[in-house]
Amino acid sequence: MPGRYHIITYGCQMNVRDSETLAGLLETMGYQPADRPEEADVVLVNTCTVRESADDRAYGRLGELRRLKQQNPGLVLGVAGCLVQKDREEVLRRVPHADLVFGVHNLHRLPDLLRQVQHGCQRVYEVWDRRPKDEPLPILPVARRGRVRAYVNVIHGCNKFCTFCIVPFVRGRERSVPPEQVVAEVRELASQGFSEVILLGQNVDSYGHDLRPRTDLADLLLRVHEVEGISRIRFTTNHPRDMTEKLVRTVAGLPKVCEHIHLPVQSGDDEILRRMHRGYTVADYLRTVDLIRRVLPQASLTTDLIVGFPGETEEQFENTLRLVETVGFDACNTAAYSPRDGTKAASFPDQVDEETKQRRLWALNQLAERVAYARNQRLVGTVQEVLVEAQGRGGGLMGRTRTNKVVTFDGSPDLVGRLVWVRIREAGSWVLRGEAQVETLLAG
Ligand code: SF4
Repeated sequence: MPGRYHIITYGCQMNVRDSETLAGLLETMGYQPADRPEEADVVLVNTCTVRESADDRAYGRLGELRRLKQQNPGLVLGVAGCLVQKDREEVLRRVPHADLVFGVHNLHRLPDLLRQVQHGCQRVYEVWDRRPKDEPLPILPVARRGRVRAYVNVIHGCNKFCTFCIVPFVRGRERSVPPEQVVAEVRELASQGFSEVILLGQNVDSYGHDLRPRTDLADLLLRVHEVEGISRIRFTTNHPRDMTEKLVRTVAGLPKVCEHIHLPVQSGDDEILRRMHRGYTVADYLRTVDLIRRVLPQASLTTDLIVGFPGETEEQFENTLRLVETVGFDACNTAAYSPRDGTKAASFPDQVDEETKQRRLWALNQLAERVAYARNQRLVGTVQEVLVEAQGRGGGLMGRTRTNKVVTFDGSPDLVGRLVWVRIREAGSWVLRGEAQVETLLAG
């Protein structure tokens, strides 16, 4: 007898999107969402394993849920996602109170697995190493919260094998979603009233190389752009090695595609980039930045950076600082290197000590904040197109510029989901504060 479900999600946008699929599957079975685990009959924890801290957080939360399970023995507790895929035996050992443990390639099997638990199976466990190569990607139901922006998977997995990264081991090799399937999903979202779609992939720039006829992200953007009712299109994450001039010029020619490029560089030092197996040099990266700035002068540029990669010297770290200043990133996602078992870099002998990593991370964050602040000051006094996403706790509205900057301003909740012109009055490093130009509202 279906009841209510609650999903706890860790990690990246891919995981958020996977949780929406899990929610869609549960709702197809008749389950309704619950705001808190205490109110639910099924609790799923969708885990991430990109860093050790992500593992720790998931295990910590799963430990807390043991008490809930003791209070409510009828509760079904499930663990899914990348941590299961990587550490299946350990998850079984450390979370003995889980009824259901399943991997990233088994999401579509949730209804069957849940029925097995309900029919009395003590513990249901299913982790496939990969999805059968010739089997088409299943089209699964999706339950999204909100009605403004939606994630759309366009490519799963990654072929790059950067030496620090666990993703190719847990998510498998690249598999593109056929363009007709992507367009059908975007059409469906438009008919549901969504204004913005975010095309997702671990490496979205390699979209289409595995499809026949071969295609690419630029061609996909052209097709998605034709869908009526969608006002904005974004895509992430890019790879500097695969980003093409054709893509940048296509973005410039399509008004619905927003001028924000997230281009993870990871390090500002050539030797570290080589050891990371990134496949480009700092000069290559700067050439791509130069192309973006020439073709898309309004674009914001954000990145990911790792400090304390094995063997990173002080001088090599300073090269990263220099790159952040040179490029002038609008935002940096930064992290101290975290060794992941099974990756090449985890076995490198010259690991950097924790104190050094944290000191470098602090220095990088200080700089990134200063650079972002300076970039944002240039927007003060300008009028920006903002898509209103939500009403905040204090009653004000929150939205994003085309360049993906968060803007807060006062206005009616009726504006959620609409495009509004906002004059920027103040700018911090991460948030802009503005004033709606009510007389120039755009249709939402
Ligand atoms: S490109 Fe590198 S960092 Fe990104 S998902 Fe693939 S292996 Fe990981």
